[in-house]
Amino acid sequence: MKAKYYKTKENRIIACTLCPHQCVLLPGKSGICRVRENQDGHMALPFYGKISALALDPIEKKPLYHFFPGKMILSVGFWGCNLRCPFCQNYSISQKTKGHSELLSPQELVKKVYERGSFALAYTYSEPLVHWEYLMETVKLAREAGIKNVLVSNGHLEEAPARELLAYIDAANIDLKGFQEDFYAKEIKGSLEAVKNFIRLASEMTSLEVTTLVIPGKNNSPDEIEEIAVFLASLNREMAYHLSAYYPCYEYDAPPTEPAELMSLGQIASKHLSYVYLGNIGADNNTYCLHCGNLLVLRKGYSVKVQGIANNCCAQCGKKVPIISE
Ligand code: SF4
Repeated sequence: MKAKYYKTKENRIIACTLCPHQCVLLPGKSGICRVRENQDGHMALPFYGKISALALDPIEKKPLYHFFPGKMILSVGFWGCNLRCPFCQNYSISQKTKGHSELLSPQELVKKVYERGSFALAYTYSEPLVHWEYLMETVKLAREAGIKNVLVSNGHLEEAPARELLAYIDAANIDLKGFQEDFYAKEIKGSLEAVKNFIRLASEMTSLEVTTLVIPGKNNSPDEIEEIAVFLASLNREMAYHLSAYYPCYEYDAPPTEPAELMSLGQIASKHLSYVYLGNIGADNNTYCLHCGNLLVLRKGYSVKVQGIANNCCAQCGKKVPIISE
């Protein structure tokens, strides 16, 4: 498979233009993501089709709450990531590239969606965007086959490849890991501005939900969460926003986020956004109609019942709901 977003320079040096890092690679060297490599002056993709994880998950686990609630989705993970979050929950596949892989072509992966009885494919677990070429092939095949494409990502990508990919994505959950450029640059080695641009674009092109993992002492100030909510509301007040509690993982050992704190931050975000959900604290997270208060989706953990929606409208008052369920 030929890589697309890179430029060749003098002396077999190449520059990757896929993500905001814009890595310049000497022959034999890999980029920050560890999965794109300069082989003799060309961009090679040594991890093309190498699958690190494949599982049937509740769609709420992505988390996606407004896209086919209650359905199971075949979820695929790869290797590598273009960020360096020291609290990564999937560091064994995102920050490493060694381990058992299953080799699957895009055609074979799409076939597995039928075999496992799913309606959709989620690109998730590690960072899918650094496997852009594999994703592009797979999303096109899936769309042709009537299978939905779901992207779960850090959104750290340049605009041109983002536009190409998002044209085939039916729903996405993008992490917004904080709202300070300094936190992105120093703590997780990325660009907040680039992620905001991706979120702006995704809000126009797909059914978008956003998640912030709330980490005590890092991104948990009420002002910061309110700034995020104001930003998301400027794109779509009815966008689902997930605030998730952090648990110690990888290089972080600070105590977990207190449920009471998450609830209080949820209330702040709810001043600006109609649908705020709290993750990792056992909250029920039901969805109610904004117009008449009818219960639309009942959730208890991963047990989900869609009970108040008919033809994508509230079954009681008939107003349109921002939930795709049919
Ligand atoms: S995709 Fe990988 S190689 Fe390309 S710029 Fe980003 S981190 Fe560097």
